[in-house]
Amino acid sequence: MSTIENVVIVGSGPAGYTAALYTSRANLKPVVVEGYLWGGLLQQTTDVENYPGFPKGIMGPELMQQMRDQAERFGTRFITDLATGIELADEPGGVHQVHVGGETIRTWSVVLAMGAEHKKIGAPGEELLSGRGVSYCATCDAAFFAGKDCLIVGGGDSAMEEAIFLAKFASKVTIVNRRDEFRASRIMQERAREVANIEWLTPYVVDEFTAGENGALDHAVLRHADTGETREVPVAGAFVAIGHVPQSEILAGQQIQLDDEGYVRVEGRSTRTGVPGVFAAGDLVDHTYRQAITAAGSGCQAALDAEWYLRDTPQVPTPEGMPEGDLAEAQYAAPKE
Ligand code: NAP
Repeated sequence: MSTIENVVIVGSGPAGYTAALYTSRANLKPVVVEGYLWGGLLQQTTDVENYPGFPKGIMGPELMQQMRDQAERFGTRFITDLATGIELADEPGGVHQVHVGGETIRTWSVVLAMGAEHKKIGAPGEELLSGRGVSYCATCDAAFFAGKDCLIVGGGDSAMEEAIFLAKFASKVTIVNRRDEFRASRIMQERAREVANIEWLTPYVVDEFTAGENGALDHAVLRHADTGETREVPVAGAFVAIGHVPQSEILAGQQIQLDDEGYVRVEGRSTRTGVPGVFAAGDLVDHTYRQAITAAGSGCQAALDAEWYLRDTPQVPTPEGMPEGDLAEAQYAAPKE
């Protein structure tokens, strides 16, 4: 019979790598299925100024490299490929299966940490011009649009926050929202309305992003949501801030409870999904906070929940090398040579 792993972690953002750090320090020899573009959304950011411990800030990709290195130091194994499917057992002590490429990994426990991705509009030209004028992160890309006219698409707090940041660089920022009302909190709207070079255009949707001769974004075609009137708006940058979608596709057909938007439901303040031995952490679970530090914190919780499951479930053989007794002691394990 093939090996049964103690814990397989699917996902490689702050939640996945923190779960890997904790479970590897507890001698559980975790396997992380990290995808090709490991590191999650932070790989797309530049300066991270609000991750504690880095008073001068740290670049997003560097932070993720350090988290990965730290997990590796204690014996984490990485599979740089995508999980294509998952089959979960129902009973305590059941063996779960994670499919990666043509291989199947069998495991007593799973930490789901696939994160979320930026929601796309689905307009023609959006994908083609992504990185050539169309962006999902003003914090990352605003500096490229200094002195240029830009759009923000969306009407939530993210759109307001992105617009306020972008307006420091762009000559003019037009917020395009599909309704006259905004989902954003009053305070965020007020802050945006105080910025002189932010303009507002409602109710409009994006019909198309169009390239110029140089292959970069030249203008957006906007359509009035009620009258159908269209207009071309010349812009160098269009920032889409219409929310996030959790990457929970591989859970389709499994017993994991998802909410209406596809986020994984967990029990209370734990990371337990309701399926024995399966835990979920990070942006896959969290609509609200979506910060690197909160994702890392919930990755830690998922690791401890998994450790307790492996230790306390009679149907699961106690993992070799797992310290007995108070799990807090497990956190003092020596690094692997
Ligand atoms: P959100 O609150 O869900 O807002 C999404 C916005 O995009 C809404 O205006 C929505 O319009 C629009 N939208 C959705 N799908 C669209 C589509 N296909 N085409 C055009 N427009 C579309 O998402 P969010 O702004 O990312 O915020 C997520 C959470 O994080 C919220 O709880 C928010 O409060 C929080 N957050 C807080 C802060 C802060 O306070 N500093 C900053 C960022 C985020 P409709 O309203 O018509 O659906």
